[in-house]
Amino acid sequence: TAKRRAAGPLLYDPSIDAASAQTLSLLSELRHAVDHGELRLFLQPKLALANGSVVGAETLVRWQHPLRGMVPPMQFIPFAEQTGFIRNLTVWIFEEAARHWTRLQSEGITLTLSVNLSTRDLLDQELPQKFALMLARHCVPATAFCLEITESAIMDDPQRALLTLDRLHAQGFSLSIDDFGTGYSSLAYLKRLPVDELKIDKSFVMGMENDQDDRKIVRSTIDLAHNLGLSVVAEGVENAQIWDLLRELNCDHAQGYHMGRPMPASDFRAWAEQWDAR
Ligand code: C2E
Ligand code: CA
Ligand code: CA
Ligand code: CA
Repeated sequence: TAKRRAAGPLLYDPSIDAASAQTLSLLSELRHAVDHGELRLFLQPKLALANGSVVGAETLVRWQHPLRGMVPPMQFIPFAEQTGFIRNLTVWIFEEAARHWTRLQSEGITLTLSVNLSTRDLLDQELPQKFALMLARHCVPATAFCLEITESAIMDDPQRALLTLDRLHAQGFSLSIDDFGTGYSSLAYLKRLPVDELKIDKSFVMGMENDQDDRKIVRSTIDLAHNLGLSVVAEGVENAQIWDLLRELNCDHAQGYHMGRPMPASDFRAWAEQWDAR
């Protein structure tokens, strides 16, 4: 096994050569993490603005590192993307999500789990097949999942992305465009993509109670989504004022620290009971 690097402030420095010893070392550390259960999927609740009911949860990966403590995804997901390791990671994440779904279901909680996909995943022609095998193994329907894809991941190679997304959609997965409004998306592609949901980026949502422009962007995005027959979710809802504004604007769903932070899956049921009793 790999020699562990000493704990430092930055796990991954993008300026470092792809073939460097440091890269190889971090890669084997990440492999080790997957094999030895150091990765965790946290769940963040997704709620219906109309009545406050819990409709789903987004799965967000965490690395419980033995030396560094909790490593946030932005410190290893971009690295995993660059090295291609994300393909293994996504398969692990999806399977873990299927396990969580089954357990929550058995506890009487039926919801849709949103799983994040990256650029490399969309270029993986075998992804739909890998997911199908996993669903069969866990006896979970594809309709239990929403797959979140960013605009930039799609625009990297639109033809190939479209092929993968068409297949996934035909299998029964819902598809969502994450961070909507921050990449260069093309409305022409939006029309052709088999998407079900737009997810408004938190950079527009977080300050919308104070910023008129943010509010206009959020309003327009909600209208655009509804005009295209898509549902719309706002992320980054940090206070009750934003919740109320989004309700007024007819936004469908919301996620944010105001309602619930990403939490260990084992805490989700207790959170949901508390939320329902509030
Ligand atoms: P994202 O998909 O846009 O996820 C939303 C991020 O916003 C999460 O950060 C979440 O914890 C945070 N967030 C949620 N509500 C609020 C809020 O009210 N206020 C603020 N300020 N932030 C909020 P996190 O978990 O650190 O994840 C960061 C990014 O890492 C994600 O952005 C996603 O791009 C990536 N990521 C996380 N988990 C996965 C994964 O399983 N697979 C892949 N491919 N990427 C992942
Ligand atoms: Ca996401
Ligand atoms: Ca997002
Ligand atoms: Ca984001």
